[in-house]
Amino acid sequence: MRDSNLGVEVEVGVCPNEAPRSPVWGPLRTPPITCGGLSLALELPALIRQLREAWKARRGGPRGPERSQASTWVESEKEEVEEVKHDVEDRSGHLKADGRLNTGHAGVLLVERRGSYPLIDLRILKTSAQQGEVEAGTRRKMKRLLSFQRYCHASRLLRGLVPHTPGSLHLLDDDYLGQAAHMLSKVGKWNFDIFLFDRLTNGNSLVTLMCHLFNVYGLVHHFQLDMVKLHRFLGMVQEDYHSQNPYHNAVHAADVTQAMYCYLKEPKLAEQLSPLDVFLGLMAAATHDVDHPGVNQPFLIKTRHHLASLYQNTSVLESHHWRSTVGMLRESRLLSHLPADMQDMEQQLGSLILATDISRQNEFLSTFREHLDNQDLDLQLASHRHFILQIALKCADVCNPCRFWELSKQWSERVCEEFYRQGDLERKFDFEISPQCNQQADSVPAIQIGFISYIVEPLFEEWLRFTEPSPLSQNMMGHLYKNKARWSPESRRGISEDKF
Ligand SMILES: [Zn+2]
Repeated sequence: MRDSNLGVEVEVGVCPNEAPRSPVWGPLRTPPITCGGLSLALELPALIRQLREAWKARRGGPRGPERSQASTWVESEKEEVEEVKHDVEDRSGHLKADGRLNTGHAGVLLVERRGSYPLIDLRILKTSAQQGEVEAGTRRKMKRLLSFQRYCHASRLLRGLVPHTPGSLHLLDDDYLGQAAHMLSKVGKWNFDIFLFDRLTNGNSLVTLMCHLFNVYGLVHHFQLDMVKLHRFLGMVQEDYHSQNPYHNAVHAADVTQAMYCYLKEPKLAEQLSPLDVFLGLMAAATHDVDHPGVNQPFLIKTRHHLASLYQNTSVLESHHWRSTVGMLRESRLLSHLPADMQDMEQQLGSLILATDISRQNEFLSTFREHLDNQDLDLQLASHRHFILQIALKCADVCNPCRFWELSKQWSERVCEEFYRQGDLERKFDFEISPQCNQQADSVPAIQIGFISYIVEPLFEEWLRFTEPSPLSQNMMGHLYKNKARWSPESRRGISEDKF
């Protein structure tokens, strides 16, 4: 078939030598791209180059100094980044056609995806004359994207996939990436400092961590995931977290994911888990608070927020996190190649994310206790493994008081800051101030002692029993008791305020 738009001879359609339902299409494999015994995958780069040349020729090549300046930069990048960029351009083109494209300051092309995910024309942003006009927020997001591109290069380089020839790579922050890579080698340690990791990855801790863990577990290979789709999906998830939230932001998601990884490695659990369990556990951890507005469910209900009516005042936030994740999975088409029976992953993901609803704490805790008392947990059963994944995710979500004091204290201050912001809003609009949200009445130590006593301690005591008890569980309980003591009034009387 001839593609008349490009003026290039391209054979498309069903390959005559390949039966459409060939048995080599196994359950978890993408169809092999072969024709006449030759792998088209080998020919694909050449084909893409040919198409791109034709495409460039039709657009008339570089135009003006701005374009040539940008082109110089773009040309110096490796081919993979070129493809990502063209992907972005293509998508911008589609959205422009949809009439959904906005042109921001300095000609920056922005498409607001659920209000938080911009698509940026990297060529335009690179020109120094226009950089000054770009809004600070946009520049931060651009910096993240550029850093992420560099991470893609570096990770390929570290795995030996790209030969390092002088001038072939432009890693502006080699030192930081080196330190981030070093931290990843210790990602299974409980003292992992997610705040430092986030700084070293230039705000890309969630994407970087997830890519690394997917590689560690061989999930990309097992589920035959398309790396471009995976990066796009994770980028969407990270951007959909609200960076202005002191607590419910992408760093919290990365922290929960790292904790989840530690729990998945527990000897009691590790050998029983299937690749699907691991995939779901990590995905649920990474997405469990996506697009969190920084206020709680009662606030959404009393302000008659549309999400509260949409989800009928029940698990409003958790339902929104789940449905947003499903939306992004479908938009990225990350799992679209999987057989139909794998598509119930969306439901399983929902069941895990909905378990993080703190109002269902007692329901989960009593079932967990019952299983442990009766010693009837059988991890050969998929349903029991799923239940333990729910518990593990709940533990990971509230594990801050089980971390080292320096990390734990930062999280405590952040969550209280978010509560106080809600309280300030409630005061401003003459609503009754929610419990723990009144900065004048609710101190950080009092909030933390209540949270530890009623939520964290009962849950981790059962988790300790479940792990029989593992060194990690004992370590976590040690930190929990010490941190609780440091927040207690008796202990605080002996320590000056500035140490808190
Ligand atoms: Zn959370």
